Amino acid sequence: MYGEFVQGLNYIHMQPPESRIGQRDLLRARGGSRDNGTLNSSPLVIRPKGAITSSEVVRDVNKRIVLNLIRTRQPISRADLARCCGLQRSTISLIVEELIEEHWVIEGPTGRLPRGRRPTFLRLNSDRVIIGVDIRPTQTTVALADVNGNFTSQEVIPTSPNPGKAVEELIQSIQRIAHAARTRKVEGIGISLPGRFDKTSGRLVFAPNLRWCDLDLRSPIAAATGLDVELENAANACVLASVWFDHVQDRDFVVVTVSEGIGAGILANGRLVQGASFMAGEFGHVQLDPAGPVCGCGNRGCWEMYASNQAALRYYFESGSRGGDLSFSDLLSRAEHGDSRAVEALKTMAHYLGRGMRMIVTTLAPQRIVVVGDITRAWHLFGPIIETEIRDRVLAGTAIPFIQPASENGMARLRGTVALVLQKHFSEP
Ligand SMILES: [Zn+2]
Repeated sequence: MYGEFVQGLNYIHMQPPESRIGQRDLLRARGGSRDNGTLNSSPLVIRPKGAITSSEVVRDVNKRIVLNLIRTRQPISRADLARCCGLQRSTISLIVEELIEEHWVIEGPTGRLPRGRRPTFLRLNSDRVIIGVDIRPTQTTVALADVNGNFTSQEVIPTSPNPGKAVEELIQSIQRIAHAARTRKVEGIGISLPGRFDKTSGRLVFAPNLRWCDLDLRSPIAAATGLDVELENAANACVLASVWFDHVQDRDFVVVTVSEGIGAGILANGRLVQGASFMAGEFGHVQLDPAGPVCGCGNRGCWEMYASNQAALRYYFESGSRGGDLSFSDLLSRAEHGDSRAVEALKTMAHYLGRGMRMIVTTLAPQRIVVVGDITRAWHLFGPIIETEIRDRVLAGTAIPFIQPASENGMARLRGTVALVLQKHFSEP
């Protein structure tokens, strides 16, 4: 259902509501389903699912549309909802009552309009919360967010190299956060992973920077907490965050995450690209030099060996600089304070980032590349290098994509986990 999530969002954001509902009403009036088999060619696909034309399905679809409209336009009155989606006021009222009963939506405050009318505004119920988990090679963040993606608490724990111990410590952290939120309705747990997993089994299958292998992450956490657990690759989670919270409307864009490794999440023609084995987007492990440094994946000279945070630290130490257990954040600070070797190390990293992104531009021709990572803190210094590397060598005829730092302050992955948990309630069935 994941691809449909993005499609569902595009549908909400990109299409005038009137045209959507007009076609839906047409669908209902015809008493037939419309499935052209290509989610991309139409924003309005309802796949056959049992009795697709039954009133229950139509009502469910309408309910999701109304819920999404409340999410994106809150606070909003019932009258404005009816105007936005073209449904009758009585239908809207019934759906809204259901959503209030299910604690998705709350009423208030009361608005003021001329001529005495005082409509009651609707908004999402922020007592419905999500636990987001961002697993990274050295540390894991567990956070509590409401349905609007506002984070209210979080804790950071070290990520153990021992997978069994890591899962145990993660469960304990989740339970502490869940206990703190015990008066609220916890909707589920979303987990962002620096790797790939089998979507059917939930087992981690590729995470070279974590060095865990073939691990079932979902079952023990679900069993210990009694909550639904959704997993996603970190770069894909960032794509979700861009669409869900930042309302990026491009149908072709790529998120590149730059940290210990390099990941890419791809939205192509409005859909998340996953590939046959859920491995699509591993540009970080494309080999640039067979004689290069050994990568965590076992190959040599992968792109991330030249353009990740770890690569910049390596350049810095190779230049004769000292720093002990210097972090990438420390390296950025040194560069900002005039350490010329730090600046050079980061410039080299930026050159390689741009060169690698040419692979992405050449293969996917995206409208936009969003860069997520600490390097964006000094975008004014290194962003132009990345852009020049791409612009100067792109194929004739290829439109230059907009290269943009994510304005996420380290939260993109966690925001993506919130969208991951919520999307099944807001997207089309
Ligand atoms: Zn590799």
